[in-house]
Amino acid sequence: MHNGESGDLLASGIVEKIGNPPSRLKHKAGAKTDSRDVQAPDHRAAFALMIQALCEGPASVIAGPSEIQAVGHRVVHGAERFTGSVRVDGNVIKALEDFSTLAPLHNPPNLVGLREAMRLMPGVPHVAVFDTAFHQTLPPHAYLYALPYELYTQHRIRRYGFHGTSHRYVTEAAARFLGLPLSETNVITCHLGNGCSMTAVAGGKSVDTSMGMTPLEGLVMGTRSGDVDPALTFHLIRALGMTADAVDNLLNRESGLLGVSGVSNDMREVVDAAKGNTRADLAIEIFCYRIRKYVGAYTAVLGRVDALVFTGGIGENAAGIRERACRGLDALGYVLDAARNAAPARGPRDVSADGSPHRILVIPTDEELMIACDTARIAAGA
Ligand code: ADP
Repeated sequence: MHNGESGDLLASGIVEKIGNPPSRLKHKAGAKTDSRDVQAPDHRAAFALMIQALCEGPASVIAGPSEIQAVGHRVVHGAERFTGSVRVDGNVIKALEDFSTLAPLHNPPNLVGLREAMRLMPGVPHVAVFDTAFHQTLPPHAYLYALPYELYTQHRIRRYGFHGTSHRYVTEAAARFLGLPLSETNVITCHLGNGCSMTAVAGGKSVDTSMGMTPLEGLVMGTRSGDVDPALTFHLIRALGMTADAVDNLLNRESGLLGVSGVSNDMREVVDAAKGNTRADLAIEIFCYRIRKYVGAYTAVLGRVDALVFTGGIGENAAGIRERACRGLDALGYVLDAARNAAPARGPRDVSADGSPHRILVIPTDEELMIACDTARIAAGA
């Protein structure tokens, strides 16, 4: 929860393991916390618990739900219809139902949350903020697969890209940090969390991004393979007798850092294991090598690059991964300063060497703040 005027963070929370008891409520407001096992058999119950934690108990911040003036919702897939955040009405809900075939794992639960929040807080504006919206500026040569064109026109098969809220946030923050107008800012943004993606941004607009029709394409992630030869799928089905669902599971949930290392999908654990484990070390090398390749590709796409920007849990905290991903990029003009990169720090910072032709920045992302700002703006009718 953010203050609508100042943008200050008032409280944050989550209900984990909804429908899978014991569910857990984690809520905090400043130094005050409210964490406990709860009964949350479905999203309806979880929402009621969250609102209750905001209004009562050890970490309450408001006297009652009537103090909530607007609600922002993160929605994964806005397809080609939504190029920015919108106030939710019946037409928006209908469009999201239509897009559920494009994002079967994400849009249906998003809709459950939206409907429930609108039922509990009917009198206030609800705003949808889409993971795909920032990438709607991709040109056709970047978003089309070289497939029969009818698959695009009839079935909307194309590259959409995701993590747009984070890429947009760090692009705007990088422009401020560099003292450049957004419309003149060219950056390569590198969001490395559980999911990972990179975006080429020209003049403040996304012109290419590593995730595609689904979040599977592109970089190596915690459990996702990222780029593979699509013919691998036929081989797994024909030669190994796997079903389509088993291949889906393999590429999305059993691959990436987890699949190669055999240790974990969590980068901290893979880094710890890599000290004496060649497979864990190899997983990190594949992860960093893929980033390096995309930096090269997006440098070619942009021509002029003001900065390479690292963000997300790994991008912000793992100096060793930044160092390894940038290894050998000096020739392309990305020169890291070892001491600046390794220094423990939190806020936006420059970790490149003084003479580096391109800056290398670390910018903590804040998707919730971006959602709150869009929500406040749209609720105010702007
Ligand atoms: P999400 O994508 O779910 O929002 P985060 O952005 O929080 O996730 O990123 C989670 C990832 O960041 C995990 O792989 C975690 O191990 C990694 N991470 C966080 N801190 C560090 C660190 N100090 N060193 C290495 N990896 C880290």
